[in-house]
Amino acid sequence: MATFGPMVKIAVIGGGAAGFFAAIEAASHGAEVHLFEKTSHVLSKVKISGGGRCNVTHAAFEPSHLIKNYPRGGKFLKKVFEQFAVRETIDWFEKRGVDLKVEADGRMFPISDDSNTIVEALQKEALAKGVKVHLKSPISKIEPLSDRFRLHGPNQPLETDRVIVTTGGHPKLEGFGWLAALGHSIIAPVPSLFTFNTPQSAIKSFPGISMPEVMVKLEGTKLTYSGPLLITHWGISGPAVLKLSAFGANWLAEKAYQAKAHIRWHGTKSEEDYRKGIGAYKTLHPKRKVAKYPLFDLPSRLWEHFLINSGISEEFIWLDCSKKQINKLVDNLFCYIVPIEGKTTYKEEFVTAGGIELSEVDPSNLESKILPGLYFAGEVLNIDGITGGFNFQAAWSTAQIAGKHAANHHIEAV
Ligand SMILES: Cc1cc2nc3c(=O)[nH]c(=O)nc-3n(C[C@H](O)[C@H](O)[C@H](O)COP(=O)(O)OP(=O)(O)OC[C@H]3O[C@@H](n4cnc5c(N)ncnc54)[C@H](O)[C@@H]3O)c2cc1C
Repeated sequence: MATFGPMVKIAVIGGGAAGFFAAIEAASHGAEVHLFEKTSHVLSKVKISGGGRCNVTHAAFEPSHLIKNYPRGGKFLKKVFEQFAVRETIDWFEKRGVDLKVEADGRMFPISDDSNTIVEALQKEALAKGVKVHLKSPISKIEPLSDRFRLHGPNQPLETDRVIVTTGGHPKLEGFGWLAALGHSIIAPVPSLFTFNTPQSAIKSFPGISMPEVMVKLEGTKLTYSGPLLITHWGISGPAVLKLSAFGANWLAEKAYQAKAHIRWHGTKSEEDYRKGIGAYKTLHPKRKVAKYPLFDLPSRLWEHFLINSGISEEFIWLDCSKKQINKLVDNLFCYIVPIEGKTTYKEEFVTAGGIELSEVDPSNLESKILPGLYFAGEVLNIDGITGGFNFQAAWSTAQIAGKHAANHHIEAV
């Protein structure tokens, strides 16, 4: 009769959010866990995340709602989130003395507003569970043996029963070469979450202007996103643009970041709404100077810019405006076209789309379908979310499941 063998030995490669979470979970299930981090610091991204506050997760409790925030990996994550999602994450941190708070837009942070709270909680828990952390230990090769793995790093090769890879994203395909060598397909990395450069557009003459609820569309695609928009010195930014950059990451990369954005300045207004609004105002105040009273709560600089574009001079009263000029004004409000020429990295949060092809990983346990005993979690997978805590949530969830299943995958001795 088969009996259960000795304690499972698990190597976790990468000391980021996913690596720590997976290591703690595996150790909590009785495994001997060694975590290898190539640099001299663990959890570096957690520390700088969310502007030093760490946007841990997002108050989106329904998995079906949560997955909508992932341009890549949403379908795969549905199975993952059914096991461990936002509620479980909040509870996990709460049990370790870290209370989270929700901001008006749904983002969740530690009440301390300090990412060190998260870093310390993870380190403390790893220590308590006996996780052995090896710094300055880059792993360059995973060698599969008949029923275990040999890891090659700076020191003597080390043998382990299971491996959890949590090495994060990489901007270049070559960075995934050592994982491709295991037979896994890699989706070529492309940047996600960036702002648009618009050097030829007059719009950049209005830096600092923000609009609370615009709708932005990428010409030639069905990609349309709503949210706040900010005009910067180099182009357009803000949540609506970041969402568009994430969902359009592959398309924009193919176009070498040369495209056109269509902006509707009030996401909920139709062309007819604008036309009627102008018509009603014109009837009510025919002799008012057009430039003096901006409509639709537009900042006066933007309003004046639209008037110039429409051939409506500074002196015009509403009665002076021709039908053609009004049509042009409606075009500016409903479909303002901005040529995009390049991108700028978003300072707060950037991620890499691409990584391990998801069809080769089982979402119920995060185990490789190619090499049993090998697991993946975090950004190394072809999963990425928009800003708002979604990237960490994917890391916590995939890591929790990978850690638990890797540890429970008992070695059988005859
Ligand atoms: C500035 C910034 C702010 C962010 N803020 C937020 C936020 O507030 N909320 C949010 O949800 N997301 C945020 N993100 C995204 C989030 O940080 C990542 O999605 C998340 O860190 C991914 O976790 P991970 O553990 O998979 O990878 P990582 O955090 O990248 O960790 C991977 C680790 O593996 C190590 N490693 C790599 N290769 C090897 C190797 N061969 N051997 C050993 N070790 C190796 C690396 O040194 C690193 O420590 C932010 C990102 C950035 C850049």
